[in-house]
Amino acid sequence: MITIAVFDTKPYDRESLQHAAANTKIEWRFLDFRLTRETAPLAQGAVSVCVFVNDQVDRSCLEILAAQGVKLVALRCTGFNNVDLAAAKSLNVTVTRVPVYSPYAVAEHAVALLLTLNRKVHRAFNRVRELNFSLQGLVGFDLHGKTAGVIGTGKIGRIVAQILRGFGMRVLAFDPLPDADWAAQQGVEYVDALALAGLSDVITLHLPLTPETKHLIRRETIELMKPGAILVNVSRGALVDTTALIEALKSGKLGGVALDVYEEEEGIFFEDLSGQVLQDDELARLLTFPNVLITSHQAFLTREALSDIARTTIANLEALAGGKAYVEGSVLT
Ligand code: NAD
Repeated sequence: MITIAVFDTKPYDRESLQHAAANTKIEWRFLDFRLTRETAPLAQGAVSVCVFVNDQVDRSCLEILAAQGVKLVALRCTGFNNVDLAAAKSLNVTVTRVPVYSPYAVAEHAVALLLTLNRKVHRAFNRVRELNFSLQGLVGFDLHGKTAGVIGTGKIGRIVAQILRGFGMRVLAFDPLPDADWAAQQGVEYVDALALAGLSDVITLHLPLTPETKHLIRRETIELMKPGAILVNVSRGALVDTTALIEALKSGKLGGVALDVYEEEEGIFFEDLSGQVLQDDELARLLTFPNVLITSHQAFLTREALSDIARTTIANLEALAGGKAYVEGSVLT
């Protein structure tokens, strides 16, 4: 048997991992708190830890894990900005991620947020439950004929672009590695970032968070956008400077914002804080705008995505145990 300490476990993680590991020699240690340098000692006896987007896998955490004999950090997500890869490498700890899982899950959630925000479905739902059948303040706009700007045309951004083309939108895209054939086939136009900002009624982010892309959306870049534009971010919170976002909402420069991720989401998203006083003033301010819609990092949450994630994670754990190869594209160190 090999023991895996699964940090930040939620009931759906437990279910999908246990289901996918039915005939394996994996012994799960499910822990419902996040991995940090403080909680790392609880991986004692495990050969691997399985972590998610908000676990803090920094150097000091990795040093504790390595000293306890942990050989593998298996991320059950695609992004890996929360792991110090250089430190892992120097400590001989392998880091794997799930390079591909249902990109439809994330793309469809981005579009769900856009439709909900634009047509104010969330507000209408609450009103009707209160027997308020008034339509005052619920005016949206046709997506048909409008322009969308997709930043990052990897697996997820492409699907979003294709769905938006299906609505009859003009779709502009920006990516440092453009795929001209795909764009021509789908009727998508690659443009530079400046043109995308100035022409788009809706801008949606589908690029990774790196030191270069941190605060891609900030005061100066928001200034380049069309007045009244809608911004959708289902990628990583720190792509957007929240302070600048709040300013742009207060001034009316942005017409609406839909977020599945938030710069300071760690310790907040995925938790039930309904009985507590929210300590994050910027999040509290964002929640007061009628034209802001926030979900708590749930874009990946479909049955198909969870089962893809569980299968890749288990295959990598079995590769660690020997005999099998790691899933292609998943090894980061
Ligand atoms: P991907 O690697 O397939 O595509 C990313 C694309 O971004 C690539 O084409 C790359 O060239 C492009 N890119 C890189 N730097 C850029 C820049 N400066 N400007 C524009 N484009 C740039 O990744 P993916 O699978 O499409 O995922 C995209 C992001 O979505 C991930 O990095 C992750 O942060 C996020 N994500 C969020 C959730 C969620 O539940 N909310 C789930 C999965 C992924």
